Amino acid sequence: MKNYFCSINADSIIQKLDEAGFRQTHPRRIIANALARMAGLECDFTIEDLWRSARREDPTVGRATTFRTVDTLITLGVLDQVSFANGEDRYHVRIGAEHHHHLTCETCRKIIEIDTCLPAQFLENIIKKYNFSLSGHRLEIFGECAECQKKIQ
Ligand SMILES: [Zn+2]
Ligand SMILES: [Zn+2]
Ligand SMILES: [Zn+2]
Repeated sequence: MKNYFCSINADSIIQKLDEAGFRQTHPRRIIANALARMAGLECDFTIEDLWRSARREDPTVGRATTFRTVDTLITLGVLDQVSFANGEDRYHVRIGAEHHHHLTCETCRKIIEIDTCLPAQFLENIIKKYNFSLSGHRLEIFGECAECQKKIQ
């Protein structure tokens, strides 16, 4: 099943980088191409997956460059980093700029975006209780997606 957040092309990634002052280099173009392929195929991927895909187009693309580019794209809001309970990190292309969370299926490694957040009252209570100055939060929800649950039955 195709997820609706898969649509992205290499040019729009290059444009985002360019707007942020990262000029187009050959390795960045290769990584952008790989990213567009990954997004189109599978949606969620590891950096190793991405690097492998980039090297198929040009074997000289470095691992460090791939890591740096992914980091930059997370900062720019193009990609989301999602951590699984076992510490594995996967990435996916973001739908929009809105704050959101993920349901991560630990069986098929699928990432589902949800637009629901923690109740404001919940956060308020924590701030008050610990006199904490809040700047943000992350929330990862682990489990099994509907399709994987069906397979088991
Ligand atoms: Zn996301
Ligand atoms: Zn699943
Ligand atoms: Zn939230």
